Amino acid sequence: MDHGLGSEVWDVDGNRFVDLAAGIAVCTTGHSHPKVVAAIREQAERFIHISSDYYHAGWVELSEKLASIAPFAEPAQVFLCNSGTEAVEAAVKLARHHSGRQQFIGFHGSFHGRTMGALSFTSSKAIQRRGFSPLMPGVTHVPFPNPYRPVLKATNEDYGETVVDYIEQVVFKSVVPPDDCAAILVEPIQGEGGYVVAADGFFRALRKLCDRHGILLIVDEVQSGIGRTGKWWAIEHWGVEPDIVCFAKGVASGLPLGGILARAGVMDWPEGAHGNTFGGNPVACSAALATLELVETELMANAAAMGEFALDALAEIQSRHRSVGEVRGKGLMVGAELVLDHGSKRPDHELRERMLQEAFNRGLLVLGAGESAVRVVPALSIDQRLLDEGLQILEASLSAAEGR
Ligand code: PLP
Repeated sequence: MDHGLGSEVWDVDGNRFVDLAAGIAVCTTGHSHPKVVAAIREQAERFIHISSDYYHAGWVELSEKLASIAPFAEPAQVFLCNSGTEAVEAAVKLARHHSGRQQFIGFHGSFHGRTMGALSFTSSKAIQRRGFSPLMPGVTHVPFPNPYRPVLKATNEDYGETVVDYIEQVVFKSVVPPDDCAAILVEPIQGEGGYVVAADGFFRALRKLCDRHGILLIVDEVQSGIGRTGKWWAIEHWGVEPDIVCFAKGVASGLPLGGILARAGVMDWPEGAHGNTFGGNPVACSAALATLELVETELMANAAAMGEFALDALAEIQSRHRSVGEVRGKGLMVGAELVLDHGSKRPDHELRERMLQEAFNRGLLVLGAGESAVRVVPALSIDQRLLDEGLQILEASLSAAEGR
């Protein structure tokens, strides 16, 4: 890369790319948005770092802003760090500290990061775990409620409720005593696992399950949060209030910043129990404040509108290509899964890999997710003209990969 502007990128040879990847769902406001650049420059000229031993206005303002958009009614406490992995690590530690319980439930296909704690939950690709065991003990994985690929025999009409039944009737009775379970950690929409949207009844049933057993519900919104799905948090699509929210990626438009929002009654650990050196970095806080303002005033609505456009366009592409098994997503977190045939739904990994290479050769930055999905995850500022151009290149790349 040489430079970028909005949803366009130029390489060192002068080649132009349409960017539907946004640095893995990070460049919320597009590349080098003037308001974000100005906020970074202004802060960098005043001071770049002070450490978490001292307060500064940007940190307080950002924490107050984040607390005001927390997806739960109770007042929120905020902890800031530098990445999604660290956010998950903080959530897991907080859940153990607060509950005094040791065990957790995670989901197959999930991605939560790569430190020993976060990696214990991550299960989207075996290579991410190979050679690193033993990991943190106490994590039991259950199927994610993927309605396109159900693996459990239905006990309810809604597959999400079937999964929750399975946790309660099988896992809690045979592996994880519920009163030993500190928290359930889940992505509202699975990201690295393939852009999988949970079956509709899942989160409501999961919340009730947690309430019945005093278990904390942690949502990992590292990829889905900060307006990407057309709401501040993807969990809001299901009207469910979590206890802890993990965020990172898009919050500061590309500067490293992550954190958790927790109900005040849950974040009750004493000073010194958890912390880090760079969390609350002033330059990252300034970039985040500028980002959140843009998301609130313009970009969240744009994400919802452009997301509809992308879903429609991908559905049309699906009607012309038998290799597209399913199109799904919310807002600008949209994916299409490539399959060998609609009957067996066997993932067509090779086709997806060829397609990504064809796309790159044609001037499109687009990423895979899971075994055979392609994700459309541009900046929330993308306009219809560029999005359309990108999706047209995507279809041409698919045709080429199919050998048409
Ligand atoms: N959680 C989710 C849902 C993610 O998608 C990711 C990264 O892709 C992470 C956590 C880890 O974030 P980071 O790479 O910033 O550590």
